[in-house]
Parts: sequence; structure tokens; C-alpha cells
Amino acid sequence: MEGRIKEIFVQKEALGYPFTYRILERLKDRKFHIIKEESPFFDDPRYKPKKDSLYLLVHKGSFLKPCPGTKQYICCRYQILNIGINCPLDCSYCILQAYFNQPYLRIFVNIEDGLKEVLNYIDERKDEIFRIGTGEFTDSLALDPITEWSKILIPHFSKRKNVILELKTKTGSIEGAISLPYRERIIISWSLNSPLISTKEEHGAISVEKRIKLAGICQKEGFVVGFHFDPLIFYPNWKEDYLRTIDLMERYLDPSKIIWISLGSFRYMPELKNIIIRRHKKSVVLNGEFIKGMDGKMRYFKPIRIELYSYMYDKLSSWYKDLGIYLCMESDDVWKESFGWSPKNSQGLKDFLDKRVIKFFGR
Ligand code: SF4
Repeated sequence: MEGRIKEIFVQKEALGYPFTYRILERLKDRKFHIIKEESPFFDDPRYKPKKDSLYLLVHKGSFLKPCPGTKQYICCRYQILNIGINCPLDCSYCILQAYFNQPYLRIFVNIEDGLKEVLNYIDERKDEIFRIGTGEFTDSLALDPITEWSKILIPHFSKRKNVILELKTKTGSIEGAISLPYRERIIISWSLNSPLISTKEEHGAISVEKRIKLAGICQKEGFVVGFHFDPLIFYPNWKEDYLRTIDLMERYLDPSKIIWISLGSFRYMPELKNIIIRRHKKSVVLNGEFIKGMDGKMRYFKPIRIELYSYMYDKLSSWYKDLGIYLCMESDDVWKESFGWSPKNSQGLKDFLDKRVIKFFGR
């Protein structure tokens, strides 16, 4: 990823932070520009990803936010540590294309100050369990060789008893995490898909086989790992293709060291459709029929979603019974029809996942 960055923009205010200088030193051969004020031209409202340029800036809001799940569906009450916005990968289905209309890979240089506030907040709530991830508004590890986020975050989270940090990626940038002596309460997770969808739609990601092999290496290095089959895509031969991914998991992984596997079917904000048509002309993700869900997002019809989930659940569970499989943003009846049980509501799903944390890391 480091080689793909061509230019760096630095907000004037960001010059007051050591993090900024560490990045400029690491990428000292790249062009850089100081931005005094974000002009309308710089912040072009038309979507221009500019995935080859970093923008170093000061984040003004809170660094810790609840995952923007939905009230209408069962949500796991995950928390997002907002370290940056936008991603150097370019998955056709990526919801960020519609969420954020600002260009550049935006990296928050006041992360170390923000982290202190987040840790204070966690320490004041010792009875709660926090499941925190950095991979919602960017890939957790794609930029790690440049930002060294893992070195900044892992030591702090690994020491605490009421939190786990999940680093979710589709890349092979695990060296920073592995080189540290911390394993407790750190989960390295990979998003998975069928090999076909990965090749056609996940531009810039490593292959599914490589992801699974690296997860096996992480397990041998003492990490607990997780997986996210999200988005599951319904297309001809999907069953055989997803089975290939599960076969690779069986070949390379120890299932007893997998904390959870989430399943989510493709869903999108209506605004994303035209962006996908414009930016990803060969994409197949929009093939098929969608309906508007209770949260306003487009989703597959319920019988299709249930078919996807129950197939994946059966195949994964026949490999190993205790994989912590859960659904992302689904309703009670879809849970029951797909899995034969349901956590009933968001608190029930949070309890289920918190118990997985206690099983793997204690309390
Ligand atoms: S890796 Fe995740 S954040 Fe990055 S482009 Fe793909 S879906 Fe979006």
C-alpha cells in the first residue's frame, strides 16, 4: 500500500502533532502540500475517491462511536474507534462510497490524544465489556505500514480487562501486529467472500486463500482470529463458490481459536446504486432483485437472505459446532428461520458476543 501513495496533503493545524511528522518522515520522497483552509475545490462534494493521496488532519469529534447499526434490526452494539476515513482498497460494494463524499484517505493525526480520552471512558466503566473495532470507516491494517496504528493501539487495549480490539482487514499487513509482544484481547479478523466475488469485486485486496493462510499464521503466533462473510452475494453457483472458501478454512485454520464469524447479506443505501454503476462497470453485485428494508436500505428478499444464511450456517457448523456465528443487522424471524435460534434483540446479541469474549479472554 505504501507504494501506492503519491501525494500527501496536510491540514495546517495537523502540523502541531508528532504523528504528522512520523508519516512525513516515512514518506519523505512524496510530494506534500499544506492546506491552510479546505476550499470548496479541495472538498469537492462530487465523489472523487483519490485513493492515492493521504490527507492528514485533526479530528474534532469523539474518537469512539457506536456502530451505525439500525434500530429496526438486531445490532451487536459494537463500538468504532474512528482513526481515519476512506480506504485504499476499492471494493465495488463498499458503503463508504455513499457515506462519505469527501476525497482522500483521511487520517486523524490527534489519535494519541483521542486514545487517552477513549481509554479513560473505558476505565470508568469497568463493569461493561467494550467490543471495539477500527475497520468500519477504513480497513484496519491496509495503511498500517505507514500509520503504525497497530503499534499505537494494541499495547493499550491488550492490557485492559473490559475490552477487546478487533482489527479487520482484507490485506496482508499483519507484520506490525505480529512484531509486538501482545496477544491478549486483540482479535485479527478478515472479511471473507467467495473466491469469485473477491476477485471480481474486492479491488486491491489479497486473495481469499492468502487471507485464510495469514489467519492460520496469526493463530500459530497466538492470536485469536475472527471472520466476517459480509456481504454475502447471491449469484449463480454461489453455493459451490462459498463452499470453496469454507474448504480453505478447514484446511488452514484451527476452529477452536475462532472467536466469531459474522454473516451479512448485501445491502446498500439507494444512493450507492448509481455510484456502483458509474465506478464499477463490471460489477455483478447489483444483479438480482432488491427490496427496501425497514431501515431504508435495499436488501435481498427475505427467502433469499434466509437461504444464504442457513446454507452458510449449516456448512460452517458441520465443520465445527462452536464458531460464534451471528447475523449482522437482521430481524428476529430471519435469525430463527436461518439458525433455529435468535438472541431476540440487540441486548441479547451483545450478551452472546460478550460471552464469547469472556470464553476466549476471561474477565
Ligand atoms: S476493504 Fe472495506 S472499507 Fe475498504 S473499500 Fe473494501 S469494503 Fe470499503
